[in-house]
Amino acid sequence: MKRHIDFAPMSRRSFLRWSALVGSSAVAVKGASASKRLFVPASAEIPVGGSSTERMIRVGCPSHNCGGRCLLRVTVKDGVIVRIDGDDRPYDGVDDPQLRPCIRGRAYRRRQYHPDRLKYPLRRIGKRGEGKFERVSWDETLDLMASELRRIRDAYGNEALYVPYGTGSYNQTNGRQTAQRLLNLFGGCLGFYNSYSWACISAATPYVYGTSVTGNQRQDWLNSRYILMWGWNPAEMRDGTNTEYILRKAREKGARTVCIDPRMTLSAVSLADEWIPIRPGTDAAMMSAMAHVMIEENLVDAAFIKTHCVGFDAETLPEGAEGAESYKDYILGTRDGVPKTPDWAEPLTGIPRATIARIAREYATIKPGVLYQGYGMQRRAYGEQVVRAGCVLAAITGNVGISGGWASGIALQAPDGGPFWLVFPTGRNPVRAMIPSYLWTEAVLRGKGMGPEDGLRGAERLETDIKLIYAVASNAIVNQHGNVNRTAEILKDESRVEFLAVQDNFLTPTARFADLVLPVCTQFETWGLEDGWKYGDEVILMPRIVDPPFETKSDYAICAGIAERLGFGEAYTEGRTEKDWIRWSLDYYRKTRFPGLPSLEEFEEKNLGVYSVPVTKPAVAFEAFRKDPVKHPLPTPSGKIEIFSKRLHDMNQPDEIPAVPKYIQEWESPFGPEAEKYPLSAVGHHYLSRVHSTMENLDWLEEAFPQRLFINPLDAAPRKISNGDPVRVYNDRGAVVLPCRITPRIMPGVVAIPQGAWWTPGPDGVDRRGSVNVLSSERWTPLAFGNAQHTIMVQVEKAEKT
Ligand code: SF4
Repeated sequence: MKRHIDFAPMSRRSFLRWSALVGSSAVAVKGASASKRLFVPASAEIPVGGSSTERMIRVGCPSHNCGGRCLLRVTVKDGVIVRIDGDDRPYDGVDDPQLRPCIRGRAYRRRQYHPDRLKYPLRRIGKRGEGKFERVSWDETLDLMASELRRIRDAYGNEALYVPYGTGSYNQTNGRQTAQRLLNLFGGCLGFYNSYSWACISAATPYVYGTSVTGNQRQDWLNSRYILMWGWNPAEMRDGTNTEYILRKAREKGARTVCIDPRMTLSAVSLADEWIPIRPGTDAAMMSAMAHVMIEENLVDAAFIKTHCVGFDAETLPEGAEGAESYKDYILGTRDGVPKTPDWAEPLTGIPRATIARIAREYATIKPGVLYQGYGMQRRAYGEQVVRAGCVLAAITGNVGISGGWASGIALQAPDGGPFWLVFPTGRNPVRAMIPSYLWTEAVLRGKGMGPEDGLRGAERLETDIKLIYAVASNAIVNQHGNVNRTAEILKDESRVEFLAVQDNFLTPTARFADLVLPVCTQFETWGLEDGWKYGDEVILMPRIVDPPFETKSDYAICAGIAERLGFGEAYTEGRTEKDWIRWSLDYYRKTRFPGLPSLEEFEEKNLGVYSVPVTKPAVAFEAFRKDPVKHPLPTPSGKIEIFSKRLHDMNQPDEIPAVPKYIQEWESPFGPEAEKYPLSAVGHHYLSRVHSTMENLDWLEEAFPQRLFINPLDAAPRKISNGDPVRVYNDRGAVVLPCRITPRIMPGVVAIPQGAWWTPGPDGVDRRGSVNVLSSERWTPLAFGNAQHTIMVQVEKAEKT
């Protein structure tokens, strides 16, 4: 029997039981969810007059792609998580530090027992996007999934099926890879490549070095004397658990750290000796001006450039590119008549010319030095340029291939590229066609006929549009994609995407558009395994520590159920449970990288939680190449560092894909005509209260880090905006209303809206929560086909209090 969904909270008696277990936390709730009651798992009964059981389990923090991988000590009492603490391993040296959790991991109980967690499968009954559902049984749900997969495949072919990018659940046996394995066994689906996080940096780095493995192991920062944290904010997005800790140790050893960022981030406050505010989208201009200073003042490492690089000047241009504009030509303005001096860069960047020159001299002379590139500045209109410009600065100062130096770029960890990312076998996708992850709306609107000019790989042309989307742990469909209002309109048209299934813990903005919602248990309620996020020196077990509540199931169990109905259940599971796959994954890790890795039984018996490998002699990227570039050439066409890329030169698109890295004015810019209407640059930065859009609804985190617009007093004053006022932020794509925080910790002319807030449109279509993607664009970058979501111009005005 079907009935309408009931989101009613548990009874007061049950609520009080759970509250008793968690102490005063439930009654201390404030903020967005203050009136909401936490639910009580069925196993939370307190024995009356009897003894209760309590145990502490070491477990990996549920992995949502936060940039860290930390160890939690979770106390479970009578089947309920009652306390979460951090890593307590006695040894805590730089070579093998404790995996200390951030506030998000420590606050995870608020997510675990959130009253809004999905409890039952839901089927849409209203218009798509209206958010009206009815409860259905798992049998009906799995039957519908199987029949829709068959229907769409039979009508349009496997290319019409799509499992989108999404990292809301992100360890070996949880998340989208469970669905990818399912679809691969079903004959395949349209694939994708690159990511929303670092499309430009992963595409551009190999054009310089031939590889993405450009980073020394982090412990080597203790050998650095100068660290430029360029748009890099590990205190908020982490970028590897303990990155802040190792940076702090490097400073204690005497390294000077400078943070270049439009915002005075927590990293700038806590880790840097100096903060230099820079106008968003102009980083490549500052880098070019630094190169000008270095060239004019003979601060470049001429010997290294001569032996290890191509394209710095006319003499070192690669074969076939003779007479082209070299890097030096561009910097000195030999061809375009515009020398890229600090004077030139000052009005672009907003940084005084003397400061630009000083930073250039410091980085070129205080050696060895690190120029670490964050990822936000490459999620921009010409994000590829800033990546290559940073790599070139590292090269021309001779900081590549040496201890204490840093080659820049994406900097996956030497010598092997860091973590495994994925060992759970998804199998081979029989459909070879792949789109760039950010172009999925294009593949919905005009997929049939898309080709290489749209970044298509693996096929000449697509045969069909996307017709079915199976989004697992992905809020990227609506909330995290550029231009939310456009995406919503695309999805409302049921003749385009004919079936949208969403598998998640909560009714996210994406799930509200689903035809079918499949409720998933949390990662505390099933088995998982993870290794370091970017620096892969540890393996962390995620055992099932409490039972899945209500009718939730794991991603794996759901996919296995669908596979069963499609006739290949045995092929999907190979007879393994989630726990069996963890044992299988541990064996894989042991065989391929960690020979001393304990068995699953030992992990469990000793309550280990983590196995880590101390880094006592940090590896240095390109060390062999540095010593002998002839014997150990790079995997680039020239075998050298390609300051000038012949491959890019041959693309013959010099205005957007130049052969040497250049500053290019963005398509939305304070210097374009659009600035008359929309004069403020907006950035959507990572925020400590969320992991992307995950944990959006955690009251404790909202209280500590409320969603608001950050604006400089110089921009607030003429708009008559006072601290805390609601403000309307808008451009041609949409509008959001949210409170503001007036602070000098953001550069004048720039506003910041923490990314990941859930799109919550009112009747007028204006978002009331502060979802920055209402304002961002769906347009992609020219080389990587990556997202440019930080390139946004807006206007801000005081809004009415509601
Ligand atoms: S950094 Fe990530 S893994 Fe670590 S505690 Fe925070 S949310 Fe969890």
